[in-house]
Amino acid sequence: MSATIAAKKKEGLAIRGGKPAITQPFPQPVRWGGIEKRQLDEMLEQKSLFYWNGPQTRLLVERFQKLYPLKHVMPCSSGTAALHIAVAAAGIGPGDEVITTAITDMGTVIGILYQQGVPVFADLERYTCNPDPSDVQKKITPRTKAIIAVHLMGNPCRIDELRDLADRHKLVLIEDCAQAWGAKFRGKPLGTVGDIACFSLNDFKHIGCGDGGIVASNDGRFGPVLQKFGDKAYDRVGGTRTPEFLAPNYRITEPQSAVAAAQLTRLEGIVEKRSAMGFRLTSRLEDIHGIHPHEVNEGNRCSFWFYILHPDFRALSCSRKEFVEALKAEGVPCSEGYIAMPLYKYPIFQKQNFFAGRWPIREMGLTSMDYTKVSCARTEEIIANCVLMPFNEAMDEKWIDGTAEAIRKVAGHFSRE
Ligand SMILES: *Cc1c(COP(=O)(O)O)cnc(C)c1O
Repeated sequence: MSATIAAKKKEGLAIRGGKPAITQPFPQPVRWGGIEKRQLDEMLEQKSLFYWNGPQTRLLVERFQKLYPLKHVMPCSSGTAALHIAVAAAGIGPGDEVITTAITDMGTVIGILYQQGVPVFADLERYTCNPDPSDVQKKITPRTKAIIAVHLMGNPCRIDELRDLADRHKLVLIEDCAQAWGAKFRGKPLGTVGDIACFSLNDFKHIGCGDGGIVASNDGRFGPVLQKFGDKAYDRVGGTRTPEFLAPNYRITEPQSAVAAAQLTRLEGIVEKRSAMGFRLTSRLEDIHGIHPHEVNEGNRCSFWFYILHPDFRALSCSRKEFVEALKAEGVPCSEGYIAMPLYKYPIFQKQNFFAGRWPIREMGLTSMDYTKVSCARTEEIIANCVLMPFNEAMDEKWIDGTAEAIRKVAGHFSRE
């Protein structure tokens, strides 16, 4: 490249004093308002704010079931609680292995550990960032009892292949849909292919109520346990209080249910918009050298919790930090990666600091797992290279096209071609 072209390229970037690609402020959605207010007013007229038989919780379940035709539904206090309930309902006990993936929220594995199970990490596919079914298969042992499929960023996993694996090896398939409200696998709502579905209603998800969660199943083996495990093993259906196993209190409350029920009426609109804008961005990025878009398998509806960009830093003459700084200067909020390290690299796993510094199942010889020896190559590659862009339903075509132009400008500037 001649010195003059190089100088010209440098001039253009906003970070070097050029004109930013986007001058529009970052779009911010209105997340709640009149619908939630009316529902909360109705809730305050009630004599009780208890979840069981509470009108708000009933409404929440009814609305949830219209979107997700699952027979047994337990609203609870968080996504983490939903996952813990699911793992307990699946019968995970001391030494049982549960295969999942290592780019996710801690909530995916907390329940496994509390039930004295062993999280086993399978690798991800490089560009969908979802479990690679062939690696999941490799991790199956005689001790494997379940798979937790994390639909990362609202991007549907290869849930048909995981379903097939689970059936062949008699494993319980749990779907972690915390980031995947409204997403669909070939037309089927995520959460309806696995045996147990888990959702989060925390403040950062597509819809929320401050904190909350839902766990649901169509399966008669697991369904009745969902309510009991979320409520001290009290049987609200039968009206008895004779606990037969150890269970925490993960109950939701009527105020949370009121907001969540109202939020559910917004879901389809939110996801429709995010999905359209996400796919639009992907189509605008496809011809940019050195940029790999957020890959979604054919026929699926991704609900784009965030948008993950995969720059190829062998094709670009910048570091990820420089790329992110340059893109931010162009007016596109973004950050280096999602979580700082795969779950197995967290101190809790490296030090096996699960129960007051000890790990009873390992001491008892029920597992030989050593997280200091675990590594998933593609998972680590994703963490080291990806760029995360916040995504929301207030984004319009102009914003998306501006974002694509900003990425084109930055990638073009640093292109080695
Ligand atoms: C948010 C999240 C959870 C946990 O949900 P909380 O409601 O925060 O407990 C679990 N799994 C994934 C993939 C999440 O994104």
